[in-house]
Amino acid sequence: MFSAFASTTDTNTLDDDSDMFDQSHNDFLSLPISHESVHLKGGIAPMPGLSNIGYGRESATSSVHYGDANDTLEVNHQSGRDEREDSTPGAFMNTYGLNLTPSPLPYPNTPHSTVENGSHGVNGVNSNQNGNAIFKASDENVSQRDGLSKLKDASLKHNFMTRTPQSLSRESQPSSTPELLQSYERPTKQRLASKLKGKTTELKANSSIPAELSWPEFGRQCILAAESSRLNPFALHPAEYRLLRNHINHAQVTIYLNIRNAILRLWHRNPLVYVSFDEAAGCTRDKRFFGLAKVAYLWLLRNGYINFGCIEVPDTAPAIARRKAKDTPQRTIVVVGAGMSGLGCARQLQALFAQLADQPTNSEERPPKIIILEARPRVGGRVYSHPFLNQTNSTLPPGHRCTAEMGAQIVTGFEHGNPLNAIIRGQLGIPYHGLRDNTILYDYDGTVVDRGQDMLVEKLYNDVLERASVYRNKAAAQRIVEGDRNLILFGRDANDNGGPTIAELENSDTPLSVNAKSTASTTEEKPTTGVEKLAGRAYQLSAGFNPNITAAEAIQTLGWKVETGVSMSQTVDLDAIAKTSEFPTLGQTMDEGIKQYQAIVDMKPRDMRLLSWHHANLEYANAVSVNKLSLSGWDQDMGNEFEGEHSEVIGGYQQVPRGLWKCPSQLDVRFNTPIKLVCYNTEEQQTGKAVIIECSNGQSFEADRVILTTPLGVLKSGSITFQPPLPDWKQGVIERMGFGLLNKIILVYEKAFWEPDRDMFGLLNEAEHQASLRPEDYNARRGRFYLFWNCIKTSGKPTLVALMAGDAAHYAEATSNDQLVKEVTDRLDSMFAPNPVPLPTETIVTRWSKDPFARGSYSYVGAKTQTGDYDVMARPHGPLHFAGEATCGTHPATVHGAYLSGLRVAAEVYETMTGPIEIPSPLVEKKIKLEHPATPSLADFKPGFAPAVVPTQTTKTARAQRDEDYEAAIIGAILEEIGERPIKPGRSGVNPFLLFTKDYWYIVKKECDDARVAATGNSEAKASKQEVRIAIGLKWRTAGEGTKKPYQDQADNARESATSNAASFKERVAHWDSEAARIRQEYIQNNPPPGGNEDLILNSRTAIELGASKRLRRM
Ligand SMILES: Cc1cc2nc3c(=O)[nH]c(=O)nc-3n(C[C@H](O)[C@H](O)[C@H](O)COP(=O)(O)OP(=O)(O)OC[C@H]3O[C@@H](n4cnc5c(N)ncnc54)[C@H](O)[C@@H]3O)c2cc1C
Repeated sequence: MFSAFASTTDTNTLDDDSDMFDQSHNDFLSLPISHESVHLKGGIAPMPGLSNIGYGRESATSSVHYGDANDTLEVNHQSGRDEREDSTPGAFMNTYGLNLTPSPLPYPNTPHSTVENGSHGVNGVNSNQNGNAIFKASDENVSQRDGLSKLKDASLKHNFMTRTPQSLSRESQPSSTPELLQSYERPTKQRLASKLKGKTTELKANSSIPAELSWPEFGRQCILAAESSRLNPFALHPAEYRLLRNHINHAQVTIYLNIRNAILRLWHRNPLVYVSFDEAAGCTRDKRFFGLAKVAYLWLLRNGYINFGCIEVPDTAPAIARRKAKDTPQRTIVVVGAGMSGLGCARQLQALFAQLADQPTNSEERPPKIIILEARPRVGGRVYSHPFLNQTNSTLPPGHRCTAEMGAQIVTGFEHGNPLNAIIRGQLGIPYHGLRDNTILYDYDGTVVDRGQDMLVEKLYNDVLERASVYRNKAAAQRIVEGDRNLILFGRDANDNGGPTIAELENSDTPLSVNAKSTASTTEEKPTTGVEKLAGRAYQLSAGFNPNITAAEAIQTLGWKVETGVSMSQTVDLDAIAKTSEFPTLGQTMDEGIKQYQAIVDMKPRDMRLLSWHHANLEYANAVSVNKLSLSGWDQDMGNEFEGEHSEVIGGYQQVPRGLWKCPSQLDVRFNTPIKLVCYNTEEQQTGKAVIIECSNGQSFEADRVILTTPLGVLKSGSITFQPPLPDWKQGVIERMGFGLLNKIILVYEKAFWEPDRDMFGLLNEAEHQASLRPEDYNARRGRFYLFWNCIKTSGKPTLVALMAGDAAHYAEATSNDQLVKEVTDRLDSMFAPNPVPLPTETIVTRWSKDPFARGSYSYVGAKTQTGDYDVMARPHGPLHFAGEATCGTHPATVHGAYLSGLRVAAEVYETMTGPIEIPSPLVEKKIKLEHPATPSLADFKPGFAPAVVPTQTTKTARAQRDEDYEAAIIGAILEEIGERPIKPGRSGVNPFLLFTKDYWYIVKKECDDARVAATGNSEAKASKQEVRIAIGLKWRTAGEGTKKPYQDQADNARESATSNAASFKERVAHWDSEAARIRQEYIQNNPPPGGNEDLILNSRTAIELGASKRLRRM
């Protein structure tokens, strides 16, 4: 019965955080964290109160606590009080330098000051007086540069390049590019202050491009920023392409991409502060491109690539409200569900309407009312950290509560595009624990599986998986419009000499200089597949399966011994099973592969148990038996994985949805409001009448737009009635898509009897018929307790979480708690024998399919699911919009996928209510006409997005503009007459050894390869680069004078010519400078400046006259 055993709705338990953001949390404490693996990457102070404090009463007295139907409340504001007073306010301060693995684009708001004194809020995060979290500029006395050097010192002390697992089962790689720290920058206090006051400043090209960075370094950071936003740095996103194709030419694509990537760079460097339009305009190299900056900015903003999450954004609405009469129309948006997608969507919509309230399309009405209807008494949905009954002896930092993750638990890598990176690390500063790939496997009888054997079987499994992946649907090739990759790589803009637009070129059939096959990433990671999304063991597929290698050959190369008498031409043929069935599944196809392999190698029952364990691992990732997964599409999200270590949130993942709900100001969530009827009209309606929603508690709501984020399981169950019924295309996809099940058994002990530093361990299960070699005999049991997570570090108590995957997930739903506890204890007993395993002091069993507001765990690609079905799930119908993990085809079944779907739907709803992005006309201004210097020919572009045609300026701005144009005209005259200032020649950089290496590399390499072949007996053996380097060094050191002389002479010559170049540079530059001064003077005489400030202008020098920037010189 649900009320007894399901996991997620507890009306008796309080989850009171009414003053989560109360000013009492203003005082941050400095608590050095001794946990070696506790780290706050990005160095962010937690938002006050987010640290899982302020929960209330315990839920029950039973020592076995089933958590079922026992959600903790968000809404009762009284009973959490006592406990809060006991708890330490303000969360805790991190020791940032510890175990730091900086992001490629590290958040600059690192708590530099706190590494040493730890005495005050960092990152400008503090609480304001009325209880809402706000952001302030950090302590004035800590300069940015001080902060940086402290961070660097601390990092060095603590081994900056700490090895952390990039993903499970792969060799750990440091994910940092520490030199980026040198280019650290953060907004000045003034910038923050003016931003928060909503001030606008004059737009300035180049103002967001740090002069101290070389162009290539700047370009590199921009590329990383785009990749960290899931965008191809070198190509337009299809939506950008649609928006721009009629407006820009190919050269402008490069310019646009440079601007867009540079805006993203600003965001990633500090996601705690919104990027303003002035800053976006400062990413242009020329004010002619402010129009492009406007489009890029709006596109990124609307689509949730910048300014998303828990940040304060400028509210441009109040000014409008003052001007307008009170009865200005206001529309209503209802979001159903306060999970990650619903909260993400509501937060984003609120932010968009606030930031863009002064857009012409928005100015006729007040920003809409946004209401979230949530069935449960809490936020988070399938992200639910259930508090333990007993909170004593917690090992968590003060202010954190001991909880168990009933649903989502793992953040699958922060790098390379995870939006939770900005939220968890960049904004909320929630601590997390990085997981290490140190899984061991126990056999069913408790013996530890030999690592060699484990790896051998895993290779075989991967091989079968690869053979099955041949039947995968091929992704449709997309036309990609690329910018000039080389220019973007080096941070340079294209020369824009006009020319036809992309659309004109396409229509004229002239070949585009586009690379239709280019990929989105500059990294060469092979795609992983399988459990990346939830972080069990990942399976690495090779780039493509080579059909010319037979199974016998392949298996032998993998280290298996082929049975005597088996020909090397024997192979595994899956065509029959894959092609004959109408709905082939991954499981049946792989099992056929395993059976055929049994004729090639001698497989033992233990190998079968290991293979079955890998099946269970996939069943965990997909929440369903492999026998129900579509063969052609089960891993349709492959290649979208993030990078970086997998992590668990310390003190509860639910802090993340809570942050979205509460920060920077509380969203309007109506708890205990399950909807049951949605009456909608697809025709245009008067304001507020398109949808009427009726709820089980008797309330009803009228709305213009409704966003349904209820889980697919709920939609499938039919518990919500639609009037009229959903159209066939929508109902059809709801039925075709899979919604699976994963359950957990959470076991809390007095004391750990396992290795406390091991993050997880696996358990093999026996077949239903002992020692069977038939794969299907393992179906029912293989997922039982197949993986244990050790959650000591994140839950604060000795806790194990046993997973029930595949068929075993259903077994858990149907089995009594006592039985499950007995079974799991027996299994643990044999694993840890002879040490006795105690009974848990507290147990929680999840039963997600019995939860009426989930009806399962997460979506999967079932045998009948069709390509593109996730997109069909996402498609709106009239005023009804859809979000949730099952609408995110690129990242389904995950927390980040749910959040991304919220951003996606917010953009969609915003556009349907306000219209598409308006392209300024002209989008790119014409080049300056030097003949009319005194007449400002460049239209100014103001924040607030007035069309970039006629500048409406204040007197001061007009003067500044005029002076700037006058200076531009002088520079134009100088460049026209004497060209660019000579560029300083580089140093010779020639060294005799390098010259020698160039000549001898291949000779020495050949020698080394030959030596390798001789040493190993393998004719294919090759020497490593390092070996060649060592050998070449030796050759140089032992070479005679005769050999060395030509190289030394060459180097001497190069040095001499560099010296003479330097001398000639001095002369040429002196000449150029005097000529430039002459031209300036003549120009002023012939064209007196309109302001009459001749002397001032005569003595001024532009960057170009001063030798340009360092950047130019370096180029
Ligand atoms: C056991 C388990 C383990 C998981 N592990 C991971 C993991 O390690 N990593 C990871 O990234 N993801 C994991 N996930 C998946 C992840 O939790 C989900 O993909 C994500 O939380 C879904 O968010 P959502 O907003 O789409 O849906 P939900 O979080 O389900 O939100 C939907 C909301 O709608 C509400 N609702 C339902 N019906 C109604 C109604 N009639 N009226 C009003 N409101 C209603 C629900 O109460 C809920 O709050 C796991 C999930 C489960 C169940």
